[in-house]
Amino acid sequence: MRDRYIPYMNWVDIKDKIDSGINTIVLPMGATEQHGRHAPLGTDSFIALEMSVRIARIINALVAPTLTIGYSPQHMSFSGSMTLSVDTFRRLVSEMVESLMKHGLKKFVFLNAHGGNSSPTDITAKDLKHKYEEDIQLMVVDMIGIQNSPELKEKVEKELGEKLSDPWGAHAGEQESSAVMFFDEELVDKDRVSNPFVPEEYLNISRDPDVHTIIFNLSKYTETGTWGDASNASAKQGDLFYKYLSHKLAEKINLGWEKT
Ligand SMILES: [Zn+2]
Repeated sequence: MRDRYIPYMNWVDIKDKIDSGINTIVLPMGATEQHGRHAPLGTDSFIALEMSVRIARIINALVAPTLTIGYSPQHMSFSGSMTLSVDTFRRLVSEMVESLMKHGLKKFVFLNAHGGNSSPTDITAKDLKHKYEEDIQLMVVDMIGIQNSPELKEKVEKELGEKLSDPWGAHAGEQESSAVMFFDEELVDKDRVSNPFVPEEYLNISRDPDVHTIIFNLSKYTETGTWGDASNASAKQGDLFYKYLSHKLAEKINLGWEKT
């Protein structure tokens, strides 16, 4: 990580990278919120960081400090969960970007690994663009949709030689637990994995095309905080998840920059 993640680097190395022409930085957007009885509260933050570093190596970018507390009101009934207000979120992220702009960084990728951050990140990025216009380019890359793509699941299943659970990419389910295990195997307590649970009631409503957004308290849809089945989670599966998704997202990022 020392090659990309600025909290692990010294200023001389960062200056050298920027002087060599790097003007892009990925901001990992995570959270501190419950992820079931078995996975740590930093799950989304660890995933955002590992994915950002892999993407940064492909697109030749730096990685900013992870946003380790996000917008998570729906998880607050579970112990330890934390949330920022939207106002604090916007100020914090804006001031991170403004600090980094002072050092010559111009292209910002918000790599979001937590659903609750989607709306505040989008608005913050639009406000920054409105304020700085041509001095800056911003892109919001939300992992939330693509991490459930059937194509990604098939690729991982093929290389792993195993069937993955359904829904694979659910909150604190097999995919997220595997991604944490790759980051640090000891952070997931496999003895605590809950019985498989699929939130049919929630999924039926949220997939209804007539319903735009449901505002909910997660504890009403899952007693343990987990959706899906994490019993077959593994570090190997997590590694494959990062490998395929980082390449796919890097491809999309390279195509998505504003024409200058
Ligand atoms: Zn998560």
